[in-house]
Amino acid sequence: MAKSAYEQKKELEEILKKELMEEYAQNAETSGSKEGTRLHDEELDFDIKPEELESYLNKYVVGQEDAIEVIATKVCTHFNRMKIENVIPDEERMVGNIKSNILLIGPTGVGKTYIIKLIAKKIGVPFVKADATKFSETGYVGGDVEDLVRDLVHEAEGDIRKAEFGIIYLDEIDKIASSGAMYGPDVSRTGVQRNLLKLMEEAEVDLKTPHDLASQVEAAMEAQRTGKVTRRKINTRNILFIVSGAFGGLDEIIGKRLNMQKIGFEKGDVSSAARQNLLQKLTTEDLIKFGFESEFVGRLPVYVVLNELTVDGLFNILKNRYSTVVLGKKMDFRAYGIDLDFSDDSLKILAERAHREKTGARGLLSVFEKTLIKFEKTLPSTDIRRLMVDGNLVNDPERVLSEMLLTDSIKSFQKNYLVKHGIFLEFDDRALEIVQSLASKNHRSIKQLCEDLFQDYHHGIKLMGKDSFRITAEAVEDPDSYLENYIKQNYRKQPDSRE
Ligand code: ADP
Repeated sequence: MAKSAYEQKKELEEILKKELMEEYAQNAETSGSKEGTRLHDEELDFDIKPEELESYLNKYVVGQEDAIEVIATKVCTHFNRMKIENVIPDEERMVGNIKSNILLIGPTGVGKTYIIKLIAKKIGVPFVKADATKFSETGYVGGDVEDLVRDLVHEAEGDIRKAEFGIIYLDEIDKIASSGAMYGPDVSRTGVQRNLLKLMEEAEVDLKTPHDLASQVEAAMEAQRTGKVTRRKINTRNILFIVSGAFGGLDEIIGKRLNMQKIGFEKGDVSSAARQNLLQKLTTEDLIKFGFESEFVGRLPVYVVLNELTVDGLFNILKNRYSTVVLGKKMDFRAYGIDLDFSDDSLKILAERAHREKTGARGLLSVFEKTLIKFEKTLPSTDIRRLMVDGNLVNDPERVLSEMLLTDSIKSFQKNYLVKHGIFLEFDDRALEIVQSLASKNHRSIKQLCEDLFQDYHHGIKLMGKDSFRITAEAVEDPDSYLENYIKQNYRKQPDSRE
């Protein structure tokens, strides 16, 4: 009897699985060896000095000079050290190989990711970022920490050698601290720390996940087709790990250690400067108290505390010529052919608002969006090609927008009227106010309303031999009677004027 499709598929999978196992056994001997992960100068053209990297970062990042000094130095040393690994004797390499993995401490939106991304770009190494919270010990619930390494290969467009010199950035690392409980999520958190620890030291990570049969099969078929066994292991020895978190409560642990309870060191009673000061005194012991395994802390020799951003800091970010927020918004408007500019007082107000959101520089984006969204929607349909964002505008965007729209609509109506009838209609301020309120009351556009109100005006105006006419409040309220009266009065006057 013929085999069912299911049976055939199963059989094929079994054969492939067996082949794969054999191939794996061979492969493990030939790839991912220490020799294989040595850096050769031509592979990673890294030739940068700490001060150079520091000043590069300071061009973009505002208010984090102290943190940048340490990060730039340690990252530079990490990559430069790889270059000498070729020439130093094995035994020295074995003892001296403690990587400068870095722990960044700081609230959200102060530039932690930004700094690391800039570095990865400058050096030209792949970079991946993930939240530590998404990992579980077994990898079944969220993800497997080894996925990070595989993601690096993806970032390196499949180039395993390049991936082996990449940077892995893990945020929210404070969330995998454990209170030491013997059950529940704490156990899993400790497990995640241990898994990470292995990667941070040195591990060989399979390129394909063991549970991903489809990709295994695909790889085996490719090997059969090309006759080449592609390398399937990534060594993590040279991968730089940077972990970060806000570490709420860590300052209290430090405070307690320093015996500071007596001076009113209570929860919520600490100013951000005081907190910052305490964090600078961080020791390994405090991190272990916070809930990290001592081996894990041991793999993070460099601590860096990032500053909270003040209003001035946020303002300086906006004034920075590489400010992505300002440039991004300018691009949004440029897409419609509109030039956008910001006055300093507008940037100051926006910085103050963002500061209140307590999300660091991230607050800037949302504050900009909120303030400008109506302009972004409406201006593209008008003739307005320049928008100057000033203090007035950010304080009362709706009013400024409606004034702008009024002026634009009236201008456009005036232009058409002049072209069509050779007459310039001038509006006084009261007339404009009434036009605006009539238009909004009747849900009509200003241009349409004016066209209706003054559709017959050109006859009368021409009759009087005029090429311009002033529209007053009375003219808007009752256009026909106003023009009639005007003509009557002027007819009476005209003979006199001829005398
Ligand atoms: P986090 O500290 O939470 O990792 P990010 O680095 O992702 O925050 O910051 C978000 C964005 O805010 C960055 O992409 C950058 O545009 C801007 N930003 C944050 N901090 C700074 C800073 N100190 N200087 C300049 N821009 C910054």
